Amino acid sequence: MTAAPGRSYAGYVPKVRAVHHRPKILIAGAGVAGLETLLALRSLLGGTVEIELLAAEPEFVYHPLAVAAPFGLGEVRRIDLAAVAADHDAHLRLGALAAVDAAASVAQTEGGQALAYDFLVVAIGARRWPAIEGALTFTGGEDLEPFGEADRPRAGRDRATAGVCRRHRRRVAAAAV
Ligand SMILES: Cc1cc2nc3c(=O)[nH]c(=O)nc-3n(C[C@H](O)[C@H](O)[C@H](O)COP(=O)(O)OP(=O)(O)OC[C@H]3O[C@@H](n4cnc5c(N)ncnc54)[C@H](O)[C@@H]3O)c2cc1C
Repeated sequence: MTAAPGRSYAGYVPKVRAVHHRPKILIAGAGVAGLETLLALRSLLGGTVEIELLAAEPEFVYHPLAVAAPFGLGEVRRIDLAAVAADHDAHLRLGALAAVDAAASVAQTEGGQALAYDFLVVAIGARRWPAIEGALTFTGGEDLEPFGEADRPRAGRDRATAGVCRRHRRRVAAAAV
């Protein structure tokens, strides 16, 4: 959705199908970007639009803390999306975006549902894949499984890192690509 420079979104009425119903904004993806979009749109547009949140999972997971949790330095936070949607007058639909027919303004889910929209926000994040040969591709706490229970870091970064290094004789470095 774009507005002319200097023009506020408040009171903005899209031309498409706006006469008979509130314009519907479909947000696909309920990660950081999807939820920020939901909050911003509700704040800017109030109740003038209908918002549907298409989420692959029932919870928002705050990924950055996944790298701290194994070292006892933080805890992965999870937030119930149903509560977030209810708080911001959005309809939560569980499902994954599979395809978009932009000409018809219809999004298809992997489960075969067809979701009509007036505006679509695609915020499905990035895919993670092994990028460095020989390195552990860490996407969350479950990636510590190969080290076994005895080697898992318990508390304190130094102790944890040292434990992993001694046992596996590997260097520890972090890279985001
Ligand atoms: C281990 C780890 C540590 C990180 N540490 C930091 C950090 O310290 N600082 C920092 O700034 N950033 C960090 N990041 C990156 C940060 O988490 C991302 O930049 C941010 O989450 C991106 O937000 P997003 O909404 O674009 O994607 P995501 O947060 O990934 O959200 C995408 C959402 O879309 C959903 N989804 C995927 N496919 C579909 C589909 N087809 N249909 C519907 N929904 C779908 C996913 O389930 C997910 O909920 C880290 C990431 C990881 C994995």
